[in-house]
Amino acid sequence: MMARRCPECYAELPDDVVWVCPVCRYTLRTPAAAKAGLAFMIVGLFLLGAYVYGPDRLPLRSGVLPTDLANLTIANFVLMVLGAFGLGILLVAAAALKIRGEQARLAAA
Ligand SMILES: [Zn+2]
Repeated sequence: MMARRCPECYAELPDDVVWVCPVCRYTLRTPAAAKAGLAFMIVGLFLLGAYVYGPDRLPLRSGVLPTDLANLTIANFVLMVLGAFGLGILLVAAAALKIRGEQARLAAA
């Protein structure tokens, strides 16, 4: 098997290295949690835009959703916005911790 190399500095990568190059600190891979987190934050931005526009003016009651669900969605719109942002921030933070953890482990080695 060929040794993996860092795409940035071409240093040979030890088998147990996952996220960051131990030589140049290049981020080898973006954790999936980071991507999911960003997606949630983008959803949060859209929801925030919809909230500013006015959830009452969205076509939620046009028949696509059951009326109860549409009313519930409108009543809890702020929670949805905060939930999407909160989940996004949590996922990004979890991904950052993963990378930081490996950096700390490499620094201590
Ligand atoms: Zn490197």
